[in-house]
Amino acid sequence: QAKDQGKGRFQLFDVGSGQRSRSRRETLSRIEHALTRGEFCLHYQPKVNMRLGRIDGMEALLRWNHPELGIQLPGTFLPMVEDSDLDVRIGRWVIHQAVQQMARWAQAGQLLPVSINISATHLQSPDFASFLLETVRLHAPVRPEHVVLEIVETTAVADIERVSAILRHCRELGFQFALDDFGTGYSSLTLLRRLPVQELKIDQSFVYDILEDDGDLAITQGIVALAHAFGCKLVAEGVASEAHGQRLLALGCDCAQGMGVAAPLASDAVLAWCHDWRPPSSWRQWTH
Ligand code: C2E
Ligand code: MG
Ligand code: MG
Ligand code: MG
Repeated sequence: QAKDQGKGRFQLFDVGSGQRSRSRRETLSRIEHALTRGEFCLHYQPKVNMRLGRIDGMEALLRWNHPELGIQLPGTFLPMVEDSDLDVRIGRWVIHQAVQQMARWAQAGQLLPVSINISATHLQSPDFASFLLETVRLHAPVRPEHVVLEIVETTAVADIERVSAILRHCRELGFQFALDDFGTGYSSLTLLRRLPVQELKIDQSFVYDILEDDGDLAITQGIVALAHAFGCKLVAEGVASEAHGQRLLALGCDCAQGMGVAAPLASDAVLAWCHDWRPPSSWRQWTH
């Protein structure tokens, strides 16, 4: 899994100037082939509740196991499919794969909640909610309450009326929502007031430097207060070490995700990791 971090050696596509380097159609067709040939897989990064000293769930993260280049991170290919039909097809594949995996883990004795990243195009596609619900129904004992849908700010601001209607509908069905990379945009506060979210994920760019940078510390403290005022669970992303987690816990963060907790894991490594994990003793003094 450490190989995941070896980004930037090969550039799969020239993201941003894709038109110049290769026609968009050719690029999309290569990605489509990867999907149909079964070259995609999901890795799962644990999210732990520091306050309660327990595992809260896993976040599904898309990987492309490229035959020549090896594991490719989503940043190298997902931006290329934005706004296309393929974006929705990949999103559906991710939902199906993750929910199926949850049912398998449940069979093996552990029903783990899973967080799934949802693109703007996919969220607003016609059958989003019905596909999601149908997939969950086909995979008992998984229930909508076990699925957290992660959306980023830009998804929501594009058409907030429409997006908030979709979120409310999915909430009625029982699904949960998280606002991902919280604080990186300009309308975070408005979104919090208008969208039914249960979880805020404070972006790693703020979390990273809290020990050295007073500005980032102040932002983190502000977001913690905001999250709790709105009754949301606060998740810190990019937690680098046990001590880093301890500091964030002392600041009021509920949950931690990051290399200091665990790297994203292959699906067959997840249950063993859950079995072995113990909350660090330094977190205990803060728990109530
Ligand atoms: P995200 O949802 O904010 O996910 C967190 C990213 O941070 C992941 O990158 C994860 O591997 C990485 N990460 C985890 N711990 C640490 C750490 O301690 N330090 C640092 N610097 N990074 C850490 P990844 O897997 O490359 O994914 C990047 C983004 O791609 C995700 O950001 C998410 O927005 C998007 N993405 C991933 N999977 C999917 C998917 O299935 N569908 C959609 N639509 N987007 C996805
Ligand atoms: Mg996420
Ligand atoms: Mg994030
Ligand atoms: Mg991100």
